[in-house]
Amino acid sequence: MEKPTILLVEDETDILQLVDHNLKLADFHVLTAQDGYEALSLAKKHLPQLVILDLMLPGLDGFEVCKELKRSPTTKNIPVLMLTARGEEVDRIVGLELGADDYVVKPFSPRELVLRVRAILRRFSPEESAVTRWQRNGLSVDYESHRVTVDNQEIILTATEFRLLAELIRNLGKVLTRDQLLDKVWGYQFDGYARTVDTHIRRLRQKLGPYAEWIETVRGVGYRFRD
Ligand code: CA
Repeated sequence: MEKPTILLVEDETDILQLVDHNLKLADFHVLTAQDGYEALSLAKKHLPQLVILDLMLPGLDGFEVCKELKRSPTTKNIPVLMLTARGEEVDRIVGLELGADDYVVKPFSPRELVLRVRAILRRFSPEESAVTRWQRNGLSVDYESHRVTVDNQEIILTATEFRLLAELIRNLGKVLTRDQLLDKVWGYQFDGYARTVDTHIRRLRQKLGPYAEWIETVRGVGYRFRD
């Protein structure tokens, strides 16, 4: 099997080398960039399976790089894992104005980062599914193309939002706890991540417009897609 390619973008040489080394030990093929422009050009040229992106970069910062990756049709499905210093606008990252799929706060252990990378790659690997499309009233979800339309208007979901919606619909009428959603959609459970689920649900509801209320909050438990 071919090694997955990871693009690692980090301007601090020490961190770059440490992470590069650990990813290679974990059997990944690693490309490295130390500024935003180089990152974009490598991403477009090599289409890696994942981008690890430092937020604070010289020239074009991580926010801009992420936005550009998610804007371009060739790179928009590449998952992005943000590296951020504590307190650096985590809400904006998780809130996914940027479309980042996950984040890790510095300082992190290389082991945790590798686990996180594996989890993301697992949840983004294509799954075979017999059902390719789901529709009710004006909401339609195409599992193959990842297109979601609301009253015939396509809405743009991030990869994580799409997986969240798909998971809720797969379990119509059944309550899923935040931990279950973290496990199924994010591929891991960590303390303090429950809020991440809430943030994504809020974002998803905004995008679903008139169908927002089909995602029901079950107080003290989790969420349910109305059957
Ligand atoms: Ca930096």
